[in-house]
Amino acid sequence: MNQATTILDASQPQRPARTVFSSAAFHRIQLRHFILFDVLPALGTLAAFVSLRWLPLHVTDIVLFSVFWLATGLGLTVGYHRYFSHRAFTAARPVAYLLLVLGLMAARGPMISWVAMHRRHHELSDRDGDMHSPNLHGETLSGRMRGFIHAHLTWMIRHDYPNVARYVPDLLRNRDLMRLNRSYYFWVAFGLALPALIGGLVQWRWQGALTGFLWGGVVRIFVVEQTMSAINSLCHLVGTKAFARGDQSRNNVWLGFVTWGEAHHNNHHAFSNSAAFGLRWHELDPGFWFIRSLGILGLVWDIKLPQETKIISERRPGT
Ligand SMILES: [Zn+2]
Ligand SMILES: [Zn+2]
Repeated sequence: MNQATTILDASQPQRPARTVFSSAAFHRIQLRHFILFDVLPALGTLAAFVSLRWLPLHVTDIVLFSVFWLATGLGLTVGYHRYFSHRAFTAARPVAYLLLVLGLMAARGPMISWVAMHRRHHELSDRDGDMHSPNLHGETLSGRMRGFIHAHLTWMIRHDYPNVARYVPDLLRNRDLMRLNRSYYFWVAFGLALPALIGGLVQWRWQGALTGFLWGGVVRIFVVEQTMSAINSLCHLVGTKAFARGDQSRNNVWLGFVTWGEAHHNNHHAFSNSAAFGLRWHELDPGFWFIRSLGILGLVWDIKLPQETKIISERRPGT
């Protein structure tokens, strides 16, 4: 594959010095996003469980939840995270755009903002300026609790906005990517409407559309949101530290499968450009399985992996 088939420009001009912006306009957008895609899905999930009495779960709802959970989760971990943030592999254009659309449907924010915040997280992990570290609120039990709640949820209500010209110049240069990124709200709405439509058609009744919307849309958004938040909170607080990198990132092997591989978070901080987050056979990593499958099909290539000797030499004893 030649360069013309890829969408990311590898050249890196000098970075602007300003790191973050803070303004009332940004904070209004952040609050609105938090209410729409964190508070409402939580309330909607509660409503979905309460309504089970009148709207029993149909097998279609379980399938819709599972398929949309997996597709949008892969959009985040493979698309937003491993491809756009870390360039852990190179992708054919259609694959890159598909990953972007799936990530947008997850309702975790536009890709440009997500990647800028994430690159800043790696730059300052667990130090001043890391927007969602759970470790900057003191060593006491109450400090730890406040840190957890901050990292898991409340940081999203109001935070500094990273200077995208500094953090994501490679992405800003791509007009098609930017145009798609701007249609964020359309794709979130599409991700809610599609399971409703499928549920209604399969069951051929309005009730099917409603439960498809709830389980394939609202509950799925809530579960994906909680999963990604747990990487910020739990995976910087508890778990195994296989590699010492000066931050508090941890591995939680037992969460590997349900987080699409994201819970091997200490591995990821240690080898951030690696396409694989699971580095041992029992560190389940569905995100990497997906990348490897795309690689076999010739749809992605240049899949980056750390050298085995480096992994062995840098692994902390007993981990
Ligand atoms: Zn982290
Ligand atoms: Zn990362």
